[in-house]
Amino acid sequence: MEELLRRSEKLTTVGQLAAGVAHEIRNPLTTLRGFLQLQQQTNKLNIRHVDMMLGELDRINLIVSEFLILAKPQATKYEVKDVRFVLGDVMSLLDSQAHLCGIVFDSHFSSETCYIACEENQLKQVFINLLKNAMEAMPKGGVIHISIEKSKWGESIITITDEGCGIPDEMIPQLGDPFVTGKEAGTGLGIMVSQRIIQSHRGTMDIVSQVDVGTSVTITLPGNVAEEELAELPGEQDPVHSI
Ligand code: ADP
Ligand code: MG
Repeated sequence: MEELLRRSEKLTTVGQLAAGVAHEIRNPLTTLRGFLQLQQQTNKLNIRHVDMMLGELDRINLIVSEFLILAKPQATKYEVKDVRFVLGDVMSLLDSQAHLCGIVFDSHFSSETCYIACEENQLKQVFINLLKNAMEAMPKGGVIHISIEKSKWGESIITITDEGCGIPDEMIPQLGDPFVTGKEAGTGLGIMVSQRIIQSHRGTMDIVSQVDVGTSVTITLPGNVAEEELAELPGEQDPVHSI
């Protein structure tokens, strides 16, 4: 019985993810089809159209690869990484897209190393989801503030703050449930997937938002294993942080 329950829960998750993949891929495919039809009918495809088609293909590729990461078996390999570089990579990936939308990334990263134990690609997926949400909340452009601080216990605190439309109060408790979306073309899977990944990294994710002012997402991730082991040595324990 328990096994059945577990399996059906797993199936639901797979089904939800499959629906998300289908949805996310259909949009760029529709755009690509439109351009090809234009070419067929008018023979007027220009370099800008081709650029846009390439962009759409890249997007499909990104979605598929990010979802494949999630589809991997649970035996994930955690590696010690500096989260500043993980987030920096994602920012570079999204930078040109942000630029096109009149959005600027304003980053303040700790000058200290911010080591965490992580499955890098999963964590990248979280940052992509959150930065995409921030960008989508600012159709007229603006600044997204991105910071990484190190707490005195070695945790890395990542904050992404936008100046977007904000989230209505009644929607906040529902965030993390699948298919909760305020967007016409949204999947409502981004926050759910992100929360799961952060939980599996023994971290926390908090969302604070005000309509028409903006949204701030704060992720706290524990410091690397070596530091924790160090903290657990007799006499070295921090009284505030010990259990
Ligand atoms: P999706 O983006 O596909 O709709 P998500 O799970 O990523 O799904 O987000 C769920 C919903 O939460 C969004 O549709 C949006 O209404 C709201 N939301 C999330 N992040 C933000 C943000 N930074 N600003 C405004 N609304 C947000
Ligand atoms: Mg989203």
